[in-house]
Amino acid sequence: MKISDSGEFGFIDRIRKKLIPHGVNVIKGIGDDCAVFRSSKEQLRLLTTDMLVENVHFRLDWMNPHPMGRKSLAVNLSDIAAMGGRPSAALISLGVPAETDLDFLDSFYDGLKSMASEFDVSLAGGDTVRSPHGLVICVAVDGEVSESEILYRSGARPGDLVFLTGMVGSAAAFLDLENHNREYEWQAELRKYHLDPRPHIKEGRIIAESKLASAMIDVSDGVAADLGHICRESNVGAVVESEKIPTDPALLEYCHQFDLDESEFALHGGEDYVLLGTVAEDKAASLESALVSAGCAFHAIGVTDMQGGIKLKSADGRITEIDSSGYDHFKRR
Ligand code: ADP
Ligand code: MG
Repeated sequence: MKISDSGEFGFIDRIRKKLIPHGVNVIKGIGDDCAVFRSSKEQLRLLTTDMLVENVHFRLDWMNPHPMGRKSLAVNLSDIAAMGGRPSAALISLGVPAETDLDFLDSFYDGLKSMASEFDVSLAGGDTVRSPHGLVICVAVDGEVSESEILYRSGARPGDLVFLTGMVGSAAAFLDLENHNREYEWQAELRKYHLDPRPHIKEGRIIAESKLASAMIDVSDGVAADLGHICRESNVGAVVESEKIPTDPALLEYCHQFDLDESEFALHGGEDYVLLGTVAEDKAASLESALVSAGCAFHAIGVTDMQGGIKLKSADGRITEIDSSGYDHFKRR
């Protein structure tokens, strides 16, 4: 059997059974946004890594090295944010084609450094090897959070409100626009979502410190897939109201002009890097005010239930089951 038969998630399930973590200090191995270790009586350490591959995650004709440096750190910081953590240090490993210009790499590191200094992260090392086919970027980040504040994917309870800390769909719409070589007046608006996502560390900290939320994840694979992760890990289902999903006017106008369905981008697009969480209904107003008073956003988009699966309620009240399987690197589409 090949990995293209099992798919990415089938493969991860397979190794999840084999890689049962050893040692009393391991609190969470595979299955959340970060691995979690105990560092002291109250403090936990978070570890996460993400890899970006040329022509899979980025194309050099669409993206300059400076924003690539920023984004390759940002996507990892987003996983720390998803658990309510504070990032501390990063390691950067590169597979580099031999003909790569040093100026290109300098600019990539300038981008990395600018993101690192915004979030007070030390760039502490890494590894460099030759790559025969395209650039490969692998970043690992560690962070910390107290045990009383950490948020897992598995804490949602039936009846919780589902919320987002920002708008979704635009990064995927930008890729769609580029893939179809479309001319669009607000292209630059969409591009910034794809090029320069802001990790929601501030939001994650406010939510964690408030101790009001029940589960959290960052939206890397789309609202449907990532809410699917929370639902599976928490043994709940959810109903999302399409009208309530926050989207940028530039995305709505793009869909209007080219006769596309904005909820496709909003639910299945991905690379949004906002936070998706759940909160008990009677705590939602307090959480909203903690976020909004700090200049952050809180959008309630639905509610969890005991039925399992994810459903979409459209403006006319129709309820349909939606696919939460998410983007799989190996499944044939
Ligand atoms: P995210 O989208 O938040 O980065 P992933 O979907 O990439 O999370 O990963 C899901 C889980 O599977 C994580 O706990 C991750 O550490 C684990 N994982 C993914 N690939 C591997 C691998 N090759 N070996 C071990 N664990 C893996
Ligand atoms: Mg994640």
